[in-house]
Amino acid sequence: MKFLLASALLCSASAFAPVTPSLPTIKSSLDAYKVAVVGGGPSGACAAEVFAQEPNIETILFERKFDNAKPCGGAIPLCMIGEFDLPETVVDRKVRKMKMISPSDMEVDIGDTLKPDEYIGMCRREILDGYLRDRAVEYGAQPVNALVTAIDVPSDHKVNKDSKYNIHYQEFTPGSSVGTAKNMEVDLIVGADGANSRVAKAMDAGEYNFAIAFQERIKISDEKMEFYEEMAEMYVGDDVSPDFYGWVFPKYDHVGVGTGTVVNRPAIKQYQKAIRERAGSKIEGGKIIKVEAHPIPEHPRPRRVQGRIALVGDAAGYVTKCSGEGIYFAAKSGRMAAENIVKLMEGGSRLPSQEEIESTYIKDYDRAYGPTYAVLDILQKVFYSSNGAREAFVELCKSKYVQQVTFDSYLYKKVQGNNPLDDLKLLGETIGCLIKGYSIAKPDQEFSNPVESLKRI
Ligand SMILES: Cc1cc2nc3c(=O)[nH]c(=O)nc-3n(C[C@H](O)[C@H](O)[C@H](O)COP(=O)(O)OP(=O)(O)OC[C@H]3O[C@@H](n4cnc5c(N)ncnc54)[C@H](O)[C@@H]3O)c2cc1C
Repeated sequence: MKFLLASALLCSASAFAPVTPSLPTIKSSLDAYKVAVVGGGPSGACAAEVFAQEPNIETILFERKFDNAKPCGGAIPLCMIGEFDLPETVVDRKVRKMKMISPSDMEVDIGDTLKPDEYIGMCRREILDGYLRDRAVEYGAQPVNALVTAIDVPSDHKVNKDSKYNIHYQEFTPGSSVGTAKNMEVDLIVGADGANSRVAKAMDAGEYNFAIAFQERIKISDEKMEFYEEMAEMYVGDDVSPDFYGWVFPKYDHVGVGTGTVVNRPAIKQYQKAIRERAGSKIEGGKIIKVEAHPIPEHPRPRRVQGRIALVGDAAGYVTKCSGEGIYFAAKSGRMAAENIVKLMEGGSRLPSQEEIESTYIKDYDRAYGPTYAVLDILQKVFYSSNGAREAFVELCKSKYVQQVTFDSYLYKKVQGNNPLDDLKLLGETIGCLIKGYSIAKPDQEFSNPVESLKRI
C-alpha cells in the first residue's frame, strides 16, 4: 500500500514537473529487490530488521534452527541493552563483581568502581537470539527455516547488477527432520552464518585463524548458586589455557564453565578439565546439563565484501582478542552493514556496488572498532603469553584506575576520561607487576601439536 502511494505520488509529480534524474525509480512490489540474510544470530537478526523496515526491499531471513542455542558465554556489555532496545528479560544475571584468579590462585576482586546501575549482562543465547529474530520477523523479514547448502555466484556479479545469486537450501517443516531441497534467486546477500560460514566460502572470502572454545552448562545447588548471584570468575594460567582464559559465568539456574585456545586446540578437553578443577568446591556436585563447543574467529577475513555479498559478525571475523567478545560486534556490524546498504539502495530503487559497500559499511566499521581490536590484540600478546605475565595481569587488576578504564571500555565500547598522569603511573605499575609476576610464577608447560599447527593460517 505504502509502495502504491509512493508510486502514485511520483507519477503525479512527473505530470507537472520535468523528471529530475535524481528521483529514484521504485520497482513494483512484485519485482522488488530481494535481500537474503543467511543466519539468524545477533548479526543476521540485527541486519534483517533494518532491511525489513524498508518497504521496497523484500527481506528473507534464512536460519537453519530457529530455536538455536549458540555455544557461548553469553556476556554482553551494558550499552547493548540501550542501543538495541533490549528488554531486561533477556538478561539472566546482572554481574557487578568479578574475581580475577591468577595461575598461583591469587584472587583479585573487581567491580567496586561500577555505579549502582552498571552491570555486565549474562544471557542464554537461545533467549537473546530468539528475541532478536522474532523482532526482525515482526518488522517484516520473511523467515525461512532452512540450511543454506550452496550459493551460485555468477562470474560477472561484480560488474553486472542484473546478475542474481542462486541460493540452494534444505527447508525444514515443523515435525520433520528431513529437509526439502529448494533454491531462490536473490539480488544481495548478507552472510551472517557464523564461524563456519557457507556464504564466506561461496564468495571466496578467504580463511581466518580460529580458537576453539568449549563450555559446559553446570547446574549447581541453590546454595552454591548464591555465590554466583552477581559474580563472574575469570581464571588465567597455562593449565586452563595457553593463550586465553577460563570462565565461570552465572546464568539463571546454572553456571557456564568454559575455556578456549588457538595454539593448542587438540588439548581443549584437558583445559576444560582444569578449569573445572580450578573452580573446585564452588561448583562441586554440579550436574553437567549441556556441553557445547564452537570455533571463534581470530581476525577478519581477507575479503568481507565481494560484489553484492557482505559478511557480518563471526562470518566476517569480528571477535576481539583477549576478551573473546563477539555478540555486540555481531549485532553492531549487522546493523551497520544493513543501514549503509539500505541507504545505498535509495528506497529500493537501485543496487549498490562492491566499492560502495566497502567505502561505507567496511570503512565505518573499521574506523569505529579497528583501534579496539588492535589494543586487545596487544594486551593478549603481552598478558596471556606466560604464567609470569598472567600473574602481572591479575596483580594489575588491583588498580582502581585499571578497573575503571577496563569497565568503561567494555561496558560502553569507548574509553572514557583517561588521565595522562594515571596512564604514566600505570606504565610504571605494569613494569613492576611484570617483574614481580615473572619472579613468582611457575614455568609454563611445554606442548607440541605439530600436525594440527600446520593447519593454522
Ligand atoms: C564457547 C564460546 C563462548 C563465547 N562467549 C562469548 C561471550 O561471553 N560474550 C561475547 O560477546 N561473545 C562470546 N562468544 C562469541 C560469540 O558467540 C559470537 O561472536 C557471536 O555468536 C557471533 O554472532 P553471529 O550472529 O555473527 O553468529 P552466530 O551467533 O554463530 O549465528 C549464526 C547463525 O547462523 C545460523 N547458520 C549457520 N549456518 C547456516 C546455514 N548454512 N544456513 C542457515 N543458517 C545457518 C546458525 O544456526 C546461527 O543461528 C563466545 C563464543 C564461544 C564459541
